[in-house]
Amino acid sequence: MNPVIALVGRPNVGKSTLFNRLTRSRDALVADLPGLTRDRHYGEGRVGERPFLVIDTGGFEPVAKEGIMHEMAKQTKQAVVEADVVIFIVDGRQGLAPHDKTITDFLRKSGRSVLLVVNKSEGMKYTSVTADFYELGMGDPYVISAAHGDGVADLVEESLNIAFAQRPDQEEITDPAGSGIKLAIVGRPNVGKSTLVNTLLGEERVIALICQVQPAIRLKFRLNVRASITR
Ligand code: GDP
Ligand code: MG
Repeated sequence: MNPVIALVGRPNVGKSTLFNRLTRSRDALVADLPGLTRDRHYGEGRVGERPFLVIDTGGFEPVAKEGIMHEMAKQTKQAVVEADVVIFIVDGRQGLAPHDKTITDFLRKSGRSVLLVVNKSEGMKYTSVTADFYELGMGDPYVISAAHGDGVADLVEESLNIAFAQRPDQEEITDPAGSGIKLAIVGRPNVGKSTLVNTLLGEERVIALICQVQPAIRLKFRLNVRASITR
């Protein structure tokens, strides 16, 4: 089983930009709008001979009690459960936000290995871009620019080292060649496709209230099933 890295953080901090860089794709929608990624979104990445699975998540909005923001928070929590390592992204241009603290508290309770990562740090000094974030009590942050790629390779290397150190009994898999059955769920809008997917997976993988399920969900379904069954 390949290591799983979840990307978590407030909306607009650059999670989807990093996801696209790690998977060398444009699968995740990137925009200057909070809340664009509503579902979990799986992709495969690779550093040298080391493959891994990466999960992009909707922006974490821990205070929402209902509605789409609440659903997004649920999806993020599920991604954390599935992850070996969580990359917790904060915005170096905006500085510390109150929600960063709430997310920190949640991640601490989750018991997962967490790497605090300050994004959007291109052209900035380490000491000035990180100063705000020591308050979170997560040690020295990593500093990256998801948009430009600075620091990303080191971050992934470290994430994979941590993931494998946590399960020394497992051999590192270097050939992820896709196997397994590929299944497409097809039908008119609103006939129950999302509900069926959720039932098959035994969890609320697809937020059923989104009428237009994004094509990416169909494309990544194979990965999701594998992740759910083998873990
Ligand atoms: P998400 O909501 O956390 O998934 O954030 P997105 O990946 O959609 O990015 C939100 C905005 O931040 C977009 O306008 C991106 O172009 C911008 N962005 C992402 N990474 C960087 C970065 O490294 N540097 C700068 N300056 N902007 C970035
Ligand atoms: Mg996003």
